[in-house]
Amino acid sequence: MQDFIVDLFARLAAIGADGDGGFTRPSYGPGEHAAHDLMAATARGLGLEVATDAAGNTYMTLPGRDRAAPRTVLGSHLDTVPRGGNYDGAAGVVAGLAMAAHLRDRGAVPAADLTVMGIRAEESVWFPASYIGSRAALGRLAPAELEIRRSDTGRTLADHMAEAGCDPAALAAGQRYLDPASVAAYVEIHIEQGPVLAAEGLPVGVVTAIRGGLRHHRAAILGEWAHSGATPRALRRDAVFAFADLLAELEAAWDRMEGAGRDLVLTLGKASTDPAAHAFSKVPGRLDFCLDARSTEDAALDAMGAEIEAVARSVAAARGVGIDLGPRSRSKPATMDPALVAALAAAAGRLQIPHRTLPSGAGHDAAAFAQAGVPSAMVFVRNDHGSHNPAEAMDPADLAAAARVALAALVPGSA
Ligand SMILES: [Zn+2]
Repeated sequence: MQDFIVDLFARLAAIGADGDGGFTRPSYGPGEHAAHDLMAATARGLGLEVATDAAGNTYMTLPGRDRAAPRTVLGSHLDTVPRGGNYDGAAGVVAGLAMAAHLRDRGAVPAADLTVMGIRAEESVWFPASYIGSRAALGRLAPAELEIRRSDTGRTLADHMAEAGCDPAALAAGQRYLDPASVAAYVEIHIEQGPVLAAEGLPVGVVTAIRGGLRHHRAAILGEWAHSGATPRALRRDAVFAFADLLAELEAAWDRMEGAGRDLVLTLGKASTDPAAHAFSKVPGRLDFCLDARSTEDAALDAMGAEIEAVARSVAAARGVGIDLGPRSRSKPATMDPALVAALAAAAGRLQIPHRTLPSGAGHDAAAFAQAGVPSAMVFVRNDHGSHNPAEAMDPADLAAAARVALAALVPGSA
């Protein structure tokens, strides 16, 4: 499978290349479209059935023995962030086609249809919504979402879809291509976007859950500007010292939650005073910041949300400042199917491929499938340097290992 993978990635690298090692294939832009065309042409060359839905997702199917039985979908996305890498997203589609090619070469026919799905518009940097392509396929895209605008062009999703030859009117009318009941399993192979597998020397990981998030994009501490030499300590309302207290108390809350065995990651940043308003000789009167908490457990996000509010109140009182957390957004964690997780881990064990289970900190289309009620799972592939940048470094041999794990779990006796 490795030769197939190397060859297909080499052809994909001609699409949307920035010329400096990075790739830009915007959602519903020409680069994404060309990537779908490349995968479809490759699938036709393999003798797979190729279909497209109203949202422009591509379905490449190796027919099974029982065509009426619920199918297995191997999917991922083909768009990238601006100046992203060649592997984020595409690895799952390339691996799926490699699996189909492997089965076809051996004349192996799966029990039910095996569909490789190239998914549209997963990278929410382009349109401010998650999992547009997969939710559209599952009939879970709200008609109002067709009016959201792409960040670079300012044009609507419906407009971009129409330009890409899709049928937004059918989506607005509620048409869906995939009935969740017709999908036995959704499995997504994806490069790991964190450092865990590389640090532990493991080629693959089996994902247990996709973390949901609790976010404050625009929070601020409102103190009082004052002369830094003339204002006694007791009379200061210093936004920066208040932020330091806030950080320390939130980290203590994080400690307590970790100590209680709860999954949580917490990040604060964009912490700054306005350089136009602040100066060396001023007590800072305002500090803006953002906050991102993520967990595989909805209850842990609820608990952290309550902690954030309590800490903000106590710091505000102690420091004599106001803390405006601004709007809060929430996304739900998605639990991967325990039976699929166990089957994938067992397959890796049988194949003697070193592996571990781990949560996914980033969102993926697998969350949309899980939330639609489809048993879903993900296999992560070791990847140095993170993702969403030109330096993504995945070894094709590791992707082949992930594909063998998925094949062994999904089509017994085929890997
Ligand atoms: Zn991705």
